[in-house]
Amino acid sequence: MIHGSGRCHYHPERTGLGVCVECRRVICRECTTQFEGINRCARCLEQRLQALKGPAERREWSAGNVLLALVGAVVLYGGVLLLAQMASGL
Ligand SMILES: [Zn+2]
Ligand SMILES: [Zn+2]
Repeated sequence: MIHGSGRCHYHPERTGLGVCVECRRVICRECTTQFEGINRCARCLEQRLQALKGPAERREWSAGNVLLALVGAVVLYGGVLLLAQMASGL
């Protein structure tokens, strides 16, 4: 099923013990990581950890953006009110 199986993708001289669920590569015992109870190669685990870290940073960033947007909306609303007052005054 998996061609070239039996050998670790990263260490051709080593016997492959598992298959990475992400990239489907055969990996040896040293390359196998058991994160969340799932077999992953070291590279895919790194990507998984970065993916877990990523949204948190983005959430913080968007929270600041929301605040900025809110301030902008208030300023815009104030400007519209001012214009409406000016228009009604005329
Ligand atoms: Zn992988
Ligand atoms: Zn290996």
